[in-house]
Amino acid sequence: MESNGTIRIAIQKSGRLSEGSLALLHQMGLEFETYQDRLFARCRNMPIDLIFLRDDDIPEYVQDGVADLGVVGSNVLDERRSEVARLLPLDFGYCSLSIAAPEREAYRSVSDLDGKRIATSYPQMLRRYLKQQGVSVKTVLLKGCVEIAPALKVADAICDLVATGSTLRTNRLRVLDTVSQCQAILIGQKRPTSKKKRDIVERLLIRAKGVQEARKFKYIMFNAPIEALEPIKKLVPGCKSPTVIPLAEPGFIAVHSMVLEEMFWEVVEKIRECGGRDILVSPVEKFIR
Ligand code: ATP
Ligand code: ZN
Repeated sequence: MESNGTIRIAIQKSGRLSEGSLALLHQMGLEFETYQDRLFARCRNMPIDLIFLRDDDIPEYVQDGVADLGVVGSNVLDERRSEVARLLPLDFGYCSLSIAAPEREAYRSVSDLDGKRIATSYPQMLRRYLKQQGVSVKTVLLKGCVEIAPALKVADAICDLVATGSTLRTNRLRVLDTVSQCQAILIGQKRPTSKKKRDIVERLLIRAKGVQEARKFKYIMFNAPIEALEPIKKLVPGCKSPTVIPLAEPGFIAVHSMVLEEMFWEVVEKIRECGGRDILVSPVEKFIR
């Protein structure tokens, strides 16, 4: 399929990755409309078309050059071992590929499953993992509803994607081991494409990274006595250094900086210990280094 330099991005049509993929593309500044049952959308402000597919088909579309970029779970990539470039982990669609067995069975670890049957839609990942563990099983390949296989006596255990674990609990299964941690990934082509396309892909990647980076940080502003400046500089070093502005009230400063979300509360407590007050925090929408 010839695309005249227009970039095609493949995302899941409807499923667990759809919302996160659409949100990311909108945050990257792509303007487009989506309608139910549409398989295709054209961006208004960039030479980009979106195609909506089953997640399992996305790696092949990118590998074959039909799509230039795609968003897909790392589980699908690891199972297929598709010839695509993994450009950026996207920090959503988190789940794990786990081995689980009926609660009532006394299995303690995967080695207790030696010689047993495991139902899965991920036979390659399971096989590779069990080989490392020196465990040999019979895999029962199922395309969906893997979790009911033990109750139906089709298998002794399962290997499936788990996020909250509620499906496992409903089916009276418990996790014995984890094969892989998974999340959504932005993928692209390994083989060279035209300069025009490469330039757009490069621009999109900078935008996607900008969105990703922003999510990790908070913007923080507070007032503090000027004597506290040195310890405060260490607490909120920001990118180069914090912005420090004198207040109208002598002896006081306002400090602006960025703080990692995961360190946020710890840093705020220490700022208060240094005399920092009136702490204002806001989300960072984009952060381009
Ligand atoms: P499709 O119709 O597109 O083939 P699907 O049923 O295969 O959809 P979903 O269940 O929507 O796919 O899952 C898509 C991806 O979402 C998975 O491949 C995985 O990377 C991720 N994911 C996150 N949490 C879960 C979960 N609890 N169960 C299954 N997949 C999850
Ligand atoms: Zn699927």
